Amino acid sequence: MNRVQCPNCGRIVDRATRIGGTVRPPLPYDVAVCCRCAALLEFGDDMEIRLLSNEALMRLDEGHRDLLLKAKGEVDRMLRSC
Ligand SMILES: [Zn+2]
Repeated sequence: MNRVQCPNCGRIVDRATRIGGTVRPPLPYDVAVCCRCAALLEFGDDMEIRLLSNEALMRLDEGHRDLLLKAKGEVDRMLRSC
């Protein structure tokens, strides 16, 4: 994937780990959690990363939203223990 920057903390993002399912590179409109600041992120159709808006979060189906918030909680927990 291209190197892009987290819009919240400025970290260069050059890789992504997929939770569950088959391994594949990120696609437009995939959602993600920044591993440095736990910001909720979304890939745009140009594959730039932007902050995930509340509306976009609410548009996710419940299963994906739960999984994303759980992942954010895990990152938050890791960041607090550093
Ligand atoms: Zn970040």
